Amino acid sequence: MVCRASGLDDRSLESGANWSAPAIAYGQYFGWFNEDEWNEPSAPITREFAAQLLVNAFFPEAVGTSEAIHFQDENDITSSRLPYVQAAVKLGLISGYADGTFLPKSGLTRAAAAALLSRSLLQEELVSGPKIQIPVLMYHDVSYLGHGYSKTPELFKKQMQELKDAGFHTVFFSEIINYVEQGTPLPSKPIVISIDDGYHSNYTYIYPILQELGMKAEISLIGDAIQYADWGMSWDEVREMAKSGLLSFQAHTKSLHSDHTAQGGRLGVLKIASESWSHYVRTLGNDTKAILDLIEKEVGVRPQVFTYPRGKFNAMSEAVTSRLGCKVSLTTKDGIAQVRQGDPSSLRLMDRIGMDFRNGSVVSVLKQFGYQA
Ligand SMILES: [Zn+2]
Repeated sequence: MVCRASGLDDRSLESGANWSAPAIAYGQYFGWFNEDEWNEPSAPITREFAAQLLVNAFFPEAVGTSEAIHFQDENDITSSRLPYVQAAVKLGLISGYADGTFLPKSGLTRAAAAALLSRSLLQEELVSGPKIQIPVLMYHDVSYLGHGYSKTPELFKKQMQELKDAGFHTVFFSEIINYVEQGTPLPSKPIVISIDDGYHSNYTYIYPILQELGMKAEISLIGDAIQYADWGMSWDEVREMAKSGLLSFQAHTKSLHSDHTAQGGRLGVLKIASESWSHYVRTLGNDTKAILDLIEKEVGVRPQVFTYPRGKFNAMSEAVTSRLGCKVSLTTKDGIAQVRQGDPSSLRLMDRIGMDFRNGSVVSVLKQFGYQA
């Protein structure tokens, strides 16, 4: 059984009197409840409010699709909550009483709350397959600039050729998602080439090499860099590469890539200590939506992958980015990623192997990290 909820495990985020702040900020950002409700954190949960929360958390797509229900006391249901009660009844999460009433305003017991949550979580039985290894190799700049993160085109090409000769097949994350969600087969020895930031050299050097070898790669774009940085690509170049079918483009934030900690500011997508949870969730949510919208507008495909700047993440960033449609998230933790058919959570926080400073044999690096061919 796999939990289908991509909810917020906020235990690592707050403690003490402020323990509920992250979860309230999250529910507020995604419209799970209105202002009155989050301003009354100690008010009891009514049956109609429970229906609203459960449907918003687990089955948002069900709102407005259910037929009318007929309870004797239907007029007692708050009108804004009626669609949620209808959806919750239709899904079998909550039901009326034998006498035809629903009692929308009566409070939930702890036992009833546990039963409703279990029904929500146990809706879908998924059969999980075995885990498979899919190495994700991380690169940045491929050029002759010779700064910390640059690798020469010759060395990059040598590594790609080695993978090809060793029988590896480069795949897109979309193929891995289809494997996990639908069991669509992957080619033998699948591997991902994952290139961060969107350097112009990706177009100048990497693109021709991939064309020559018939290999694919994923590029994680920083929205602001594409538009403003002198080292970034242009959207025309991005579109040309996307059209080739050899490159696919993913989200690496619009404006949250930097380290501002020296000025007391933000590190990547992390929260600033003094910042309120609601400001943090709004900032992260809006930036994530902005980069997803921008890439979709310019390239025509909405990204499904969120690449964490500097590999920094927390429970909230996991909850927010997955809720906004990013099925995959990538860290910078060195290791061989493993995914499991039927287990979407195996697509989160996938390990990568940093290749910027590894210039020798890729196959021996893979073996070093435990890859079994
Ligand atoms: Zn980056």
